[in-house]
Amino acid sequence: MKIFVLNCGSSSLKYQLFDMKDESVIASGKVERIGMEDAILTHEPTGKEDLKLVTEILDHTTAIEKVFNYLVDPKYGVISDINEIEAVGHRVVHGGEVFSDSVKVDAQVKAAIKGTFDLAPLHNPANLVGIEAVETVLPGVPNVAVFDTAFHQTMPKKAYMYALPRILYKKHKIRRYGFHGTSHKYVSQKAAEFLSKSIEDLKIVSCHIGNGASIAAIDKGKSVDTSMGMTPLEGLMMGTRSGDIDPAIIPFVMEKEDLTLNEVNSMLNKHSGLLGVSGIGSDMRDIEENMDSNENAKLAFDMYEYRIRKYIGAYAAAMNGIDVLIFTAGVGENSNILRKAIANNLTYLGIEIDDKLNNIRSKEVRRISTPNSKVEVLVVPTNEELMIARDTLRIVKSSK
Ligand code: AMP
Repeated sequence: MKIFVLNCGSSSLKYQLFDMKDESVIASGKVERIGMEDAILTHEPTGKEDLKLVTEILDHTTAIEKVFNYLVDPKYGVISDINEIEAVGHRVVHGGEVFSDSVKVDAQVKAAIKGTFDLAPLHNPANLVGIEAVETVLPGVPNVAVFDTAFHQTMPKKAYMYALPRILYKKHKIRRYGFHGTSHKYVSQKAAEFLSKSIEDLKIVSCHIGNGASIAAIDKGKSVDTSMGMTPLEGLMMGTRSGDIDPAIIPFVMEKEDLTLNEVNSMLNKHSGLLGVSGIGSDMRDIEENMDSNENAKLAFDMYEYRIRKYIGAYAAAMNGIDVLIFTAGVGENSNILRKAIANNLTYLGIEIDDKLNNIRSKEVRRISTPNSKVEVLVVPTNEELMIARDTLRIVKSSK
């Protein structure tokens, strides 16, 4: 069975085509600058020459049509007939409180996704455009929506409610939702598999540390708390996002600096985090390169590490213990320096990492803790696209 996985943004899309026989990727690619005369289509068929094309692509339907044409192209194609694609999995960022699992798309589901636009105004409209574009280009093929928030719907009320007037929850559904759910679910399952243990027996703290970053407390395979909130701004310090701050800073800064709502939003989301503190950049590699010579880069690194460590401690407390600590995503998978700094300060939890193992670079799941460590510390490369493909297959099979 071939499954096409689509991640649609407002002016771009990314895709992967999976052969679920062996879960291999047979093609991947992206279209950038949709809506422009000089859109860029990059198509990478496995085992064949890559293609990079600059061309006019004015909407998502045209972009998807072009991608599908290349999937069956004699030179760049990987399948002989587009009907070999039996289902399409879509990443949808926000599922609100409606979706606690992936779901086959129908008119009702689309209406419910529309109902969440307020909660993710930058992402969900684009995700729905992607679904509708595939419906136009591949009519009759099932579409499955996989939500970033769904995995966290198991959080208890005490974890997801904010201490605000309850009416705000009733009227506007203001609560913690959490994100990166597809990744936290994938890496926690992968960790249990790697350790040959049932996930039911594990208390896992999963650190998804990339450009965006969040930590999840996963007890018996279920998310019981997570650091991102109603939006992906809360929690850890990130590449350009502030993470937790005193909310009173917002009206204060707006008044002192005469900022509009849009400006303050942009400050918190795009000009804060590693970038805002270091003044150097949002990429952890640049911070690490400069932190011996630049005190702002050092401060940014120390704050970033400290915040992660505090959340790990908080989630060990939330679950009354921790068996497994997972590092994943761009920074988590690659920065041995950050992992070491975090682990060196978690000895009170019985955590001990092996420097040699920590310094190995690999795309495989690996243990970096010593045999003496009371907590298994693992690096688990995330694969959100594969998780979406697996979920799509599961939902399509169960709806037959
Ligand atoms: P992601 O959002 O998961 O794609 O992660 C992207 C981020 O990973 C980049 O912005 C970098 O900060 C970080 N990253 C990638 N490679 C490394 C590395 N070798 N060391 C430290 N950070 C890295």
